This record gives sequence, C-alpha cells and structure tokens, in this order.
Amino acid sequence: MAFITLNKAHLFHNLHILVIKAGGKEKLMAVLKDNAYGHGLRIMAELCHEFGLKRAAVKNVEEAKSIADLFDEVLVLVDAVPTEKLAHNISFSAHSYAMLESLHDGENIHLSIDTGMHRNGIKENEIERAMEIIVQKKLQIKGVFTHFRSADELNSEFFWQRSLFERAKKRIKALAQQYGLPKIAFHSCNSAGLLRTDTLGDDAFARVGIAMYGYNPLHPSFNPVLLKPVLALWAEKLSTRVLKKGERVGYGGVYEAPYDEVISTYDIGYGDGFFRFNGITSIAMADGSVSKGRMSMDSFCLGGDAKEVCMFENATTLAQEFKTITYEIPTKLSPALKRIII
Ligand SMILES: *Cc1c(COP(=O)(O)O)cnc(C)c1O
Repeated sequence: MAFITLNKAHLFHNLHILVIKAGGKEKLMAVLKDNAYGHGLRIMAELCHEFGLKRAAVKNVEEAKSIADLFDEVLVLVDAVPTEKLAHNISFSAHSYAMLESLHDGENIHLSIDTGMHRNGIKENEIERAMEIIVQKKLQIKGVFTHFRSADELNSEFFWQRSLFERAKKRIKALAQQYGLPKIAFHSCNSAGLLRTDTLGDDAFARVGIAMYGYNPLHPSFNPVLLKPVLALWAEKLSTRVLKKGERVGYGGVYEAPYDEVISTYDIGYGDGFFRFNGITSIAMADGSVSKGRMSMDSFCLGGDAKEVCMFENATTLAQEFKTITYEIPTKLSPALKRIII
C-alpha cells in the first residue's frame, strides 16, 4: 500500500526557525487548512501541539472541531456562517458585513480587513459600521487580520498593504478603547511575510503554512532560510514484467520500449491526488528513475523492479514540471493515504 512519510525532525527544524523569526512559540499560528496542506490534519496538529504551538488556523468548522482539543484557539478561515454555536476556543473569520450580521450573537470572531488583495474582508471605510455591528451583537472580537497578495514577489506591494493595515489598526484600536473592548490580536503575515520582515511589529502572531511544511516561498535573492520538506510520498510495487523491444505500455500505448526492459507497476495514480503524467514527458522519482507511459487512475509504470519507490521528498521540481506551485502538490494528496511519522 502506498504511504506518506512525515519527517518530524524536519518539521521541528522548520518550526524552530520560524519561532525565532516570529519571536516566540506564542507568535506562530500553524495554518493546518485543507488537511494540513495534504499532510494530514490530525497528525500534523498533534505534532504542532507537541512542539508547543498554541494556535492553529483551518479551512472550515469541521476541521476546527477535529483539532480543537489541542489548541487554545482554532481559527476558521473560509466557511459559510455555521448554524450551530461553536466551542469556546473556535473563532470564525468574518469577511463581510453580511457574515457579521448572520453570525450567532456572542460568537468569537476575527475581523478580516481588505488592504488590497480584494479577495475578502471589509474596507477601511467600513470599519466604524463593522465595529458597531460587533458591539450590538456582542460578538467577541478576538482578532483583526489582513492577507498579503504579493509577500512572496519581488515588489513593494507588501509594504503598501502593511501600511494600510497599520492605519486600519489605529482606527480599530481607538474604537475598541471607546467601546471598552478587551485586547484584540492583530495579525497579517503569512510565511512569505514573516520570512521577509525583520519584525512582526505589534502583530500578535504570524499565520504560517508553507514554510512550516518545508518550502520557502521567497525569491532566492532574499536572504535564504534553509527549510526542510516534511512530506514524502511512497508507492509500492504491484507487479513486474519484461517489456519486449517495440511493445508499448499503458493507456494509448504512448511509451514504446526501445529494447527489452524490465518495468514495474506501482500503486499510486491520479485517483490518489497525484498529478497525472501524460506519458509524453517522463517524470523523475526521488531516486532518479523515470516514469514510463501515462499514469492510470490507480497506478503508474517505472523502469526497474524496486519494491517501493519514493515519488518525491521535495515537491519543488514536480511543481515546475506540472506548472504549478509547491503548495498544490501535497495539498491534493488523498486523505485516505496512510501517514507515517519518521
Ligand atoms: C493559507 C493562508 C495562510 C498561510 O499562507 P502560507 O503562504 O502557506 O504561509 C495565511 N493566512 C491566510 C488567510 C491563508 O488563507
């Protein structure tokens, strides 16, 4: 059976570096959304808890409930307003007036501010009205946040959005004082933001995803920080055969043996969340062996007869091969694959 390994030493190495950068374990929120970027939500949450992190962010209420026992606070980033009342340590991201209005009275929220990404959040000139709704509905405003659209790019937009967030902060702090609200946690940096900046300023924490999993999203011209990929994907052999010279393997028969060669079939396919190889270009495994022909839904072929093969332990080259970002390679992997901590 195919399986995923999660390298605990690598995870802790990455977290250690990020904690130093952020200024303490309480200043990192582990972003565990989408099944922890495909790594496995519960298993990664337990490791983050063991490391000593106190906060996590997830995609939806279902994910939040499954790890709420491990953290002081779990923030739901992207979900429709829940009909049920949430546990005391689950907070909900409010991205609009409409969401604020439809939330249960008294719910814990983090208010999302649009500082230029224009994906989510209220605008700066809507802050007064939003705070009014919050006070009227006795929503517990635990945090206020924004998200950077270009923290990982070679331009200055990060600084432009940051200054807009600072301005919004001032307005919110003044209103919070006026209404006598408890202290609000402000947060803005994702991995790229944290790695790019020298200080979190008075932000309470950074929301870190991809860097924790071992990928540095910044251009190499920034001071490089060595992070180590946590996840590796392994496939196991199903069968071995000799492909005679001129025989063609797999759907469409796109690969033809140039000479008699040994090939084996392995138990990962695009049904497991791996990108489908089209057989026109061959895909290299971690050990350098190359795919033969098209990938099927549940299997693919490779030269040789190794019992198991590591398909990747670093998603960077695969991401280039499939013209995507490193995030997408692990995130797509099926939750049904077995995860093993090494
Ligand atoms: C996914 C996400 C993050 C984490 O981003 P990384 O680039 O993986 O660090 C942070 N904040 C929000 C709002 C997100 O959606």
